[in-house]
Amino acid sequence: MTGETDNSINEKVNSLLFESGHRYSTVRRRLVSVLRSAGKPLTNSQIVDADDSLVQSSVYRNLNILEEAGAVTRVVTNGEFTRYELAEHITEHHHHIICTSCGDVTDFSLPSTVEKSLHNSLQKAAHKSSFSVQNHRLDALGTCSSCV
Ligand SMILES: [Zn+2]
Ligand SMILES: [Zn+2]
Repeated sequence: MTGETDNSINEKVNSLLFESGHRYSTVRRRLVSVLRSAGKPLTNSQIVDADDSLVQSSVYRNLNILEEAGAVTRVVTNGEFTRYELAEHITEHHHHIICTSCGDVTDFSLPSTVEKSLHNSLQKAAHKSSFSVQNHRLDALGTCSSCV
């Protein structure tokens, strides 16, 4: 998702890493840049494919560090591979379209009026269980254009 500038994303990642005792190394910068420009959650091998300088073992290790620092989140679907994306709190709130055939995942955003009424409906429903809603996840499932 593209709500934030590269600078502000880098600043946030930098301070998250610093707080958890890590350096914002070149490899980590490249990982963030790949995830940032993809506009969708990527698997390990998609990340390696996107940048020639990245190697599998170091991608895996550094994604874990970025995840521990709270900069990257895992997107788990019923597909075979775990995907990674920049955490919503450093980019922006969004949803995922998941292809139930090949497992591809794409980002999408809803208009703010829809987000608002979705939140209100969830809040109302949760209220019955004395639950207060802070955030939500909503995936759209279907078939992508290569799988139709
Ligand atoms: Zn597909
Ligand atoms: Zn939403």
